[in-house]
Amino acid sequence: MARVCLCLTGKTLSRNLAAIEKYRRYIDVAELRVDCLDPDERFLIRDFPGQAGLPVILTIRRRIDGGYFDSGEGSRISLFSRGLAFAEVDRRRNFAYVDLEEDIDVPSLEEAARTFGTRIIRSCHNMNGIYDDMAKKIRGLARTGDEIAKLAVMSRDLGDVIKVYQAAKETADMEKIILCMGDLGTNARILAAPAGSFLSYTSDPELLPAAPGQLDPETLVKHYRFRDITPRTTIYGVVGFPLKTTFSPRIFNTVFSHEKIDAVYVPFPAQSLDDFLHLAAELRLAGASVTIPYKEEIIPRLRSVSDTVRKMGACNTIKADHSPGWDGINTDALGFSESLLHFTGKKNFRGMKITVIGAGGAARAAVSEIYRLGGRGLILNRNSVRARELSLAYRYKWGGLDSQALDTMERYSDIIIQTTPVGTYPGIDDDPFELYHFKGHETVMDLIYNPEETAFLRRAKAAGCRILNGLEMLIRQAKYQYQYFFEKDFPDQLIPRLEEIIRRKA
Ligand code: NAP
Repeated sequence: MARVCLCLTGKTLSRNLAAIEKYRRYIDVAELRVDCLDPDERFLIRDFPGQAGLPVILTIRRRIDGGYFDSGEGSRISLFSRGLAFAEVDRRRNFAYVDLEEDIDVPSLEEAARTFGTRIIRSCHNMNGIYDDMAKKIRGLARTGDEIAKLAVMSRDLGDVIKVYQAAKETADMEKIILCMGDLGTNARILAAPAGSFLSYTSDPELLPAAPGQLDPETLVKHYRFRDITPRTTIYGVVGFPLKTTFSPRIFNTVFSHEKIDAVYVPFPAQSLDDFLHLAAELRLAGASVTIPYKEEIIPRLRSVSDTVRKMGACNTIKADHSPGWDGINTDALGFSESLLHFTGKKNFRGMKITVIGAGGAARAAVSEIYRLGGRGLILNRNSVRARELSLAYRYKWGGLDSQALDTMERYSDIIIQTTPVGTYPGIDDDPFELYHFKGHETVMDLIYNPEETAFLRRAKAAGCRILNGLEMLIRQAKYQYQYFFEKDFPDQLIPRLEEIIRRKA
């Protein structure tokens, strides 16, 4: 099992001890980053392992390796010596590990460590990218059989992350720590066990940043169920970019835990769909949600798609087929219509005139359902050519988000559906169509659920409209994804809990 390590980047030892207490139930090891301590505190590090009550790594990270130490190599070596001196017979009171970079060559330090059972982590950090032959690099790090090799590289794109997984596989016989810094590499921190890494580093967001891409221990252990992940665990995920806020991992990992399914659901921010599909093959991903901006782009890459996807031109769910390739469906559509019908208390949209703002993947799902359920539609989009393209198949009206559209929109205002990302973080005060003034009779749905009430919805509510956000749609579409992935019913009794989890985070 991969261990969870908390990087301690507090300025004082007592602040670091407080961080250990905060996360004690989630962590196995702590790394004392002496480079972050105030100078006076550095003299007191020797007693820290005894106070911490769990195995501690002694690390003094230089700036070139992504740390904060810049007082010269001489004082760094003497700090290492101080940490390793006066070893006690009770090993729990000594540092359990010391992190020595590959270019450190001070035999007395190694000697001191070995004599008192402190294991050496022989580390290499590349803050600018990866190495050509990373398996060779890892193999070359450990100087003796009892050292643990550690390779930390910076992910510039998902291709780098793939190479990290490949190197991990090629060195499966070795005890090692392998990780990929940066947001694109966070998945490798979650999947440390399948990658065969000895541990995964985490940090306390209230302390100095330890390394880019780290999660906090609670998120890693509780939300991603890190301790249950093994090389046999089935991997699911969500692909999109930038994928800054996604609640799908919280939904799926909660359901997996409740249903005792040996699976984990991981976010995969990807600048390119090709890179993601390569990574998915490398990790043998069983299925994935597809989100902004890839819902349309994914379709030509799939082996087969459902009729709905073919008709609406947007796919939000893919599943690996036994023969190589992916199948795709769209669950946004049913998630959208069920949520809206539930809200309005209607069985269909017959006799209703509905405006859809936006013409992207989510709009495609909404428009196809409005059509299927008998509604009449107007599509307005920033790029009016896209609105026109989408409207053609349904013979709906279309236009740009400008004053010319206002008259028609007033006639198509039984329901107004906002499907653009305008109003979500970070631009939460943005409004996609300020020119339109709500009259109060409209039912207004915004597909955004984070924040719970967008500026658009707030304006509609103030005018007396009935408003609905995208939370119920999100959960309903996830429910259909789950049914597709596992071919069994979704545990509906979990829905209130999932809604609560998302509301608390939104
Ligand atoms: P998408 O395919 O990339 O489409 C984005 C749409 O928004 C396009 O029509 C785009 O117009 C428009 N847009 C983007 N930025 C704009 C701006 N600054 N001003 C005006 N229009 C702008 O994205 P998507 O997959 O449809 O997702 C859209 C939103 O729906 C996201 O916020 C997503 O989280 C949400 N969503 C929610 C659920 C749910 O379950 N609640 C499900 C799916 C999606 P152009 O064509 O002019 O670029």
